[in-house]
Amino acid sequence: MAFFEEIRTMGHERVLICSNPDVGLKAIIAVHSTVLGPGLGGCRMWNYSSDEEALTDVLRLSRGMTYKAAAAGLNLGGGKAVIIGDSKADKSEALFRAFGRYIDSLGGLYITAEDVGTDMEDMELILTETKWVTGVAPAHGGSGDPSPVTAFGTLQGLMAAVKWKFDEPDLDGRSVAVQGLGSVGGHLAGYLLERGAKVFGCDIDHEAIDEAEAKGVEIVSPDEIFDVDCDVFAPCAMGAILNDDTIPRLRCSIIAGAANNQLQDEDRHAEMLDARNILYAPDFVINAGGLINVYNELLGGYNQERALRMTRGIYLNTSRVFEIAERDSITSADAAERVAEERIATVQKMGSKHWGRLLD
Ligand code: NAD
Repeated sequence: MAFFEEIRTMGHERVLICSNPDVGLKAIIAVHSTVLGPGLGGCRMWNYSSDEEALTDVLRLSRGMTYKAAAAGLNLGGGKAVIIGDSKADKSEALFRAFGRYIDSLGGLYITAEDVGTDMEDMELILTETKWVTGVAPAHGGSGDPSPVTAFGTLQGLMAAVKWKFDEPDLDGRSVAVQGLGSVGGHLAGYLLERGAKVFGCDIDHEAIDEAEAKGVEIVSPDEIFDVDCDVFAPCAMGAILNDDTIPRLRCSIIAGAANNQLQDEDRHAEMLDARNILYAPDFVINAGGLINVYNELLGGYNQERALRMTRGIYLNTSRVFEIAERDSITSADAAERVAEERIATVQKMGSKHWGRLLD
């Protein structure tokens, strides 16, 4: 059966189908790996066109979380959940509480957080039924909006790339084109301007454009962003934007941004960037700040200073990926996967139950 084959191929440990017709709940929780720790990943609420599409999405996203946590050096595995429904019309207290009970039934193998279509209020409803939830409001001891920390982490990865490419430690006089000036891109643009960089940016939302322009960002159109002559292109909007059409247009030396799944085809487009001598800072390595932020809620109470200190580690993690790529003559995307897989394999050798002190 294709269903079981898909799960087997990607190597998931558990997949839980959650159904409660009385409250309109249709959801899937996927735990890809718990080798390094509990599978932490957001809960996406989306109007999928089919149940199969929802399953494929949750399997792919949860596997991605395993790699992100491993490469960031966190004691976390990979998990993700999807609720099938319209986030604007179908939300209710009962739906999120029923979903919370399913999370609770996994006893901590899966920990949820916000994602596309869910917010802090939804997490608080889930909290009524289970403690396995992060990203709740600071008033509940949570870490709140992760975007500023994600942007700060992306900045660390971007600076590591600039150092690697130009052998320059700072951003003064460098130029960066930011695609998407939303929660992460807007903060990133601010950090870059503070460090003396020239920032170009684009968005499709007028409010985001006005805010960025007021900070000093030079606005270009969403199509022109690929043609900007700059040192760094920072994708901070949607995925799959590095593809056959866009890569030949780029006039940058580095790609370093926060968007998830930037390469449309992971192998082929990473190789195309290499062939053009464009240094690619792998997305899941440099956008791990948000995950590091929620992880800090599990370390005995959230502390932003500690979260930011850990997020600075993205600089070294990114540099290490570039070193391995050069040493082994592979793409940086392959090097990032190798770093994650080697860490998982090393910890697996320690035998069962090796989550360190987390969740004692
Ligand atoms: P957001 O929705 O706040 O911002 C995205 C912005 O991109 C919006 O302002 C939107 O109008 C704009 N946009 C959409 N299509 C566009 C287009 N074609 N051209 C230009 N702009 C366009 O989302 P966010 O939280 O800032 O996340 C941005 C990216 O970073 C996403 O890919 C997300 O998955 C990824 N990410 C976010 C976090 C986080 O902490 N928020 C963590 C890790 C990864």
